[in-house]
Amino acid sequence: MFVKENLNNFKETLPSHVSLVAVSKTKPVSDIRGAYEAGHRIFGENKIQEMVNKHEVLPEDIEWHMIGHLQRNKVKYMAHFVSLIHGVDSLKTLKEIDKQAKKHDRVINCLLQAKIAREETKFGLTFDEVKDILKSEELAALTHVKVKGLMGMASFSTDQKVISDEFKSLKRLFDELNKEGQELEILSMGMSGDYKLAIEHGSNMIRVGSAIFGPRNYIAS
Ligand SMILES: *Cc1c(COP(=O)(O)O)cnc(C)c1O
Repeated sequence: MFVKENLNNFKETLPSHVSLVAVSKTKPVSDIRGAYEAGHRIFGENKIQEMVNKHEVLPEDIEWHMIGHLQRNKVKYMAHFVSLIHGVDSLKTLKEIDKQAKKHDRVINCLLQAKIAREETKFGLTFDEVKDILKSEELAALTHVKVKGLMGMASFSTDQKVISDEFKSLKRLFDELNKEGQELEILSMGMSGDYKLAIEHGSNMIRVGSAIFGPRNYIAS
C-alpha cells in the first residue's frame, strides 16, 4: 500500500517529458511488485547480481536499468535483459558491453556518466573524455551498443547553488554535443534530494529511490 500510494503521488508531480527510474536497490521484491501493480515498469538497481536475482522472479515486461558503477566482468550476467546502463565511464566498458550484447543479438543502450560533482568519490568521465569517446572511431565500430545520452550525479550538498551549477554544466555539454550532430536523447540527472532542481535544469530522466520506497536500511539488506 505504502509504495503504491507514494509512487502514484510522486508521479503526479512530474512533467510528462520526464521519465522516472524507480530505484529499488536493497528493497525487497514485494516492494517492486507493489510499484509494478501501480503500473510502474522502470526500475533501477546498482548491483548487477541483485538486479539479476530480481529480474528472475519478476515480470518480463519490467525495464531494468543499471545505475551503479560497473564491474566489467559482471556485464555478461545482465546482457540478455538490461534495458539501459547509466554508469558507463570508459571505452573499455563499452567494448565489453558490445561483446556481451552481440552474444544475445541485442543492442544495449547506454549513457556515459560524466563527472559533475567536486567530490573525489564520484565516478565519471571528464567532459573532454565524453567528447573523445563520442567522436572516436572505436565507438563507431561497436555495433551492439548505442550511447543514448549522459548521466550525472551532483555533489552531496545542501547548497542549491552548487547543485544547480553542476546540473547546468551537464545540460550545456548535452546541448553542445547535440548541436555538433550527436543524437543524444536522454539526460539522466536527479535523485530524491535534488530531482526538482535537475528537472529545472533540463533533466528528462530522474533516478529516485528513497522518496518512493522509503529510506534504505543497508544493515538489514
Ligand atoms: C541510489 C541511487 C539513486 C537514488 O537515490 P535516492 O536518494 O534514494 O533517490 C540514484 N542514482 C544512483 C546512481 C544511485 O546509486
